[in-house]
Amino acid sequence: MRVHNFNAGPAVLPLEVLKEVQAEMLDYRGNGLSVMEMSHRSKAYNEIITDAQATMLRLMGLGDDYVALFLQGGASTQFLMIPMNFCPEGKVANYIDTGAWATKAWKEAKKIGKEYHVAATSEDKAFTYIPKTWKLSENPAYLHITTNNTIRGSEWKIDPDVPAGVPLIADMSSNFLSRPLDFAKYDVMYGGAQKNIGPAGATFVVMRKTMLEKVNPGLPTMLDYNTHVSKGSMFNTPPAFAIYVIGKVLHWIEDNGGLEARKAYNEKKAAYLYDIFDSSDFYQGTVVPEDRSFMNIPFRLPTEELEKKFIAEAAEKGMIGLKGHRSVGGCRASVYNSLPMESAQALAAFMLEFEKNNK
Ligand SMILES: *Cc1c(COP(=O)(O)O)cnc(C)c1O
Repeated sequence: MRVHNFNAGPAVLPLEVLKEVQAEMLDYRGNGLSVMEMSHRSKAYNEIITDAQATMLRLMGLGDDYVALFLQGGASTQFLMIPMNFCPEGKVANYIDTGAWATKAWKEAKKIGKEYHVAATSEDKAFTYIPKTWKLSENPAYLHITTNNTIRGSEWKIDPDVPAGVPLIADMSSNFLSRPLDFAKYDVMYGGAQKNIGPAGATFVVMRKTMLEKVNPGLPTMLDYNTHVSKGSMFNTPPAFAIYVIGKVLHWIEDNGGLEARKAYNEKKAAYLYDIFDSSDFYQGTVVPEDRSFMNIPFRLPTEELEKKFIAEAAEKGMIGLKGHRSVGGCRASVYNSLPMESAQALAAFMLEFEKNNK
């Protein structure tokens, strides 16, 4: 029996996709081997990766002025590559700090000796909201935001405006393709695949091609975006199996109505939990209502003992992954793209029952 999987990442994948992978495992479409065993230079694999890249851009409504890459090293390596490639001498890397991952992004710019500026932060209120105003530095190299805050559970509901000529760069790890965004407003979008679009091991990067003109010269080969763009994400061996599964998830999104349909489905799922927060004082949401995430939903119970009991009893009922991030404690339900409605319904029903029994 499959569990209700509220893990924050790696996370739940669509059952249909897993079944397809299973069916193709021993013999991928008559090639007599699995995708894991295939040369990444083979014709069959070339079709897999180019189709995944094209499907991603199509879902985002982007044309051939953008390029999609699958790299390794996680979103965490992008924290380094972004300032390394796009912040030249004499310019300042700008960041909006909305919680742990956003903080790590600007700290990496600092670590490699780049000028940086935190244009706004919600640290004053424990990252429980998204700043509505910000002030860029002089000579900004770019503005970097984190569209969804996986640990704190806040999410940008707008695509921020930037002055002409200032690239907008976003870590979209935990809400990528969960709803339509104005993707063409962004110049670089990246994230770990393991939250919303596939298994761990691949990092997606979608970039406006003109950004390549800005890449700092003399970078190490693997950390230079030009290397990967010029070779179609195949300079070296890509995370081949992960990309294959991602391709299937992207088609699953497309075949089920695309991003508009995802948005409606995901909002409905999240509403099962948020409605409980709004009608009970037993469960406390941790984010101001207007900035609540549709993907990661942290909450507190009256005591830590009750939180432990809640997590343990939920696990007994086949609902896993409900422990909050170790840095903040409490509970968190991640209700990503591939989580079925029934899982959210089951959790909501359990929450009401638990409240009744423990009030
Ligand atoms: C998980 C996560 C990361 C880290 O991703 P890795 O692929 O593990 O490096 C970065 N940013 C956000 C918003 C995340 O949710």
